[in-house]
Amino acid sequence: MDEKCGVVGVSLDDRAAAQPIYYALYALQHRGQESAGIVTHDGFQQHSHVEMGLVGDAFSEDDIAELNGPNGIGHVRYPTAGSVDSSCAQPFSVSFKSGSLGLSHNGNLVNASALRDELAGLGHAFTSDGDTEVIAHDLARNLLDDDLVAAVERTMGKIHGSYSLAVMHDDRVLGLRDPQGNRPLCLGELEDGYVLASESAAIDALDGELIRDVKPGELVVLEPDGAGYESHRLVEPDHTARCFFEHVYFARPDSTIDGELVYEARRELGRQLWAESGIDTDVVMPVPDSGRAFASGYAEAANEGDGSVEFAEGLMKNRYVGRTFIMPTQDERERAVRLKLNPIKSTVEGKTVTLIDDSIVRGTTSTQLVELLRDTGAAEVHLRIGSPAIVAPCYMGIDMASREELLAADRSTEEVRETIGADSLAYISHEAIADALDTPREDLCMGCVTGEYPYDIAGEATDREVSRPTIDGNRASAGD
Ligand code: SF4
Repeated sequence: MDEKCGVVGVSLDDRAAAQPIYYALYALQHRGQESAGIVTHDGFQQHSHVEMGLVGDAFSEDDIAELNGPNGIGHVRYPTAGSVDSSCAQPFSVSFKSGSLGLSHNGNLVNASALRDELAGLGHAFTSDGDTEVIAHDLARNLLDDDLVAAVERTMGKIHGSYSLAVMHDDRVLGLRDPQGNRPLCLGELEDGYVLASESAAIDALDGELIRDVKPGELVVLEPDGAGYESHRLVEPDHTARCFFEHVYFARPDSTIDGELVYEARRELGRQLWAESGIDTDVVMPVPDSGRAFASGYAEAANEGDGSVEFAEGLMKNRYVGRTFIMPTQDERERAVRLKLNPIKSTVEGKTVTLIDDSIVRGTTSTQLVELLRDTGAAEVHLRIGSPAIVAPCYMGIDMASREELLAADRSTEEVRETIGADSLAYISHEAIADALDTPREDLCMGCVTGEYPYDIAGEATDREVSRPTIDGNRASAGD
């Protein structure tokens, strides 16, 4: 399975692409810490450097200097619990009869195994178990007969699921966003070329200008000399299925996704949280850093009425401890919370506290923080959450937890409250998400909070009419 990742593609006039890609990957490091890679093309051949680890550790100055050429793509990959597999590190690069290909993928296909079986039956040999290689083989095969745009269109007709891709075919860099626009991808302009990136924060890091989001179902082809780009809308869907969780949890607050600054979306969610379930307490306190924007919107809305709540930082974060989200065992996750956050006694002691966070996944962090605040002398601890209860897993690329591990999967809000030990607990409603993101409900994926998905996933319910493309060996696209 592929995980939540970050992708970049760059085409420049006559400057090496590797350095800007390297900086862009730094800006996308939050989207993946397991591996980092860059593949460039100098007009004659591909150059590739892919390593396990963080961007800063994966490349030396010499590595960057050896990645020649003004065109390239990059990737950071999100870790899976317990497994570290270099065969899935990206960009995936390979040479076929139809030329060289490099692929960086963010997302997860739900029909990869059917497509893999079909391609394996036709003699394609695979070196990894990732979806990206399946896409690469199908595209390479189509490139034997078709031009680039037709080949991508044909591959797009066969793959089903979530994907934002930065692809390099010889020295041509392309960006492709799945017809549901599940994962973000945006286009920016640099002084001497163009850039595609998962998030606009990566374009900012290069002093570039965000042009716009790549549209769902759109292929953007960058000119190899950085002079411009072409757009091909290969599929125009009636409805999209944007991942609401990007706005709630995953994306950087300073990124603009689908026209909306993530920080503002989170503040608006905080405001709606107050409107729906506000409670008067002495202090409103964020779980750093994930709850901060929500808490500031919540406190602002609270103080607009006749209330006067204090917005205060009562938990201090040790920035040198990694995300507890990715710790592989329960024991390690529990220890990590204590290592990561320390309470400020004067803000907490004797006070009634509203603690605000973005989500509850396993509940480990929330349980420990409530206990920590009580131990520090809080009179009451009320928990408010900026997303609805997470009741089902994600099949589209966020490796959050299995159904058994999700605290709310088989518990009512009252049961979750009791488990966590808070005096009260409220989540934001499904409706408030659509309102705050200013997006019709039917254009959002909310599979993990409803248990109904916008894709055809074996054994799961759907929230709309969807069907998988047929994998029939006749190379027919879904549109045929
Ligand atoms: S299931 Fe949840 S996390 Fe996964 S794509 Fe849908 S909204 Fe995003």
